[in-house]
Amino acid sequence: MSIGNSGEEPLELAVEPWAQLHRMPPKQTCVVVTHSPAGDGTWSGTVSRDEPFQVDHRPDAVTVWVNGNCFHLSDTDGNAIDAADWDCPARNPAP
Ligand SMILES: [Zn+2]
Repeated sequence: MSIGNSGEEPLELAVEPWAQLHRMPPKQTCVVVTHSPAGDGTWSGTVSRDEPFQVDHRPDAVTVWVNGNCFHLSDTDGNAIDAADWDCPARNPAP
């Protein structure tokens, strides 16, 4: 999922439940990826089933709730910004 700051002011991006913060300057677009904890590719969801993400927006901040085991935050060129990937099923495939 990509998240763009099309405003004139920096935007604080919070990735929960890890509470990772990233300050997005104007015009920046970030890409957040998560991987399903379930082998069959389903998602637990926040409000409804099968939601990988839930997004809340305030004037100067965006909070992304991730329903997977991990998150990978990068820019649109694929350069890593931040991650919480110690439980990533794609990085550590089940034996
Ligand atoms: Zn992952």
